[in-house]
Amino acid sequence: MKTVKLNNGIEMPILGYGVYQVTPEECERCVLDAISVGYRSIDTAQAYYNEEGVGNALRKCGLSRNELFITTKVWITNAGYEKAKTSIADSLRKLQTDYIDLLLIHQPFADYYGTYRAMEEAYRAGQVRAIGVSNFYPDRFIDLAENVEIKPAVNQVETHVFNQQVKARQIMQEYGTQTMSWGPFAEGRNNFFTNETLVKIGRKYGKSVAQVALRFLIQCNVVVIPKSTHKERMIENFDVFDFELSEQDRMEITKLDKAESLFFSHYDPGFVRYLLNYGK
Ligand code: NAP
Repeated sequence: MKTVKLNNGIEMPILGYGVYQVTPEECERCVLDAISVGYRSIDTAQAYYNEEGVGNALRKCGLSRNELFITTKVWITNAGYEKAKTSIADSLRKLQTDYIDLLLIHQPFADYYGTYRAMEEAYRAGQVRAIGVSNFYPDRFIDLAENVEIKPAVNQVETHVFNQQVKARQIMQEYGTQTMSWGPFAEGRNNFFTNETLVKIGRKYGKSVAQVALRFLIQCNVVVIPKSTHKERMIENFDVFDFELSEQDRMEITKLDKAESLFFSHYDPGFVRYLLNYGK
């Protein structure tokens, strides 16, 4: 598996498996399927309510802990130094492990500076191998990165062919922060899987739209964590290392970029209120 080196020297697989919207009941089976396909990196979060399912799969999969790379995230309701410390302990218990490979602040709201201090402490104590953030747009990202001791290793943001995050990626690079895509298929929005450009390019390589979309992000050095509950799609999404998009095809995909979210705006007061109340 191709890896990226994070700013503290640790290696992270460039392709992993995400479990957002995987039900607690299905999560263990899905993660075991993904591991059997070859995925070694799993992305979960407290707010997905399925950390236990990931933990059960880790315990049952037959691999050593150090063969897997586990990411989880601290939700807004656990923001602040004290609450975040408890929340990290909760995640470790649910994941049934004594360390987390990558711990992220899920959203840039509430007392995330307090959360980050608790994460820095957990990092120094060896409970976490790397720390970072998620959904931090350039404004909040720069403010945080300028004011913490340990620079974020990763920022996980909505990144796909329709929202390529070109400017944000440049800024993250200045701080040595790795971009990690969420929603690499935009969850199917905007007729993703029948997009003419992606279908046409896929035909040239004998690859599907999903494979072309993942390959594009991988060639941009973006970490991807596609989600599927179907094993055949997990296999398809994993099979992206035997071809390379030409410069011309990459340029054509670059033109699909609308440079805006297909989901929501973190600058929309209504959405901020919704997030602050989620999980209360
Ligand atoms: P996604 O990976 O862009 O899309 C998932 C959707 O695509 C599902 O409906 C899935 O259906 C379908 N799909 C998967 N592979 C396919 C294929 N080869 N052909 C056709 N359809 C396919 O969306 P996502 O789950 O939102 O994003 C991926 C991961 O990013 C999440 O699981 C989560 O770990 C992370 N994430 C993080 C945040 C954040 O705020 N940090 C937000 C969203 C997501 P089936 O499952 O039915 O196959």
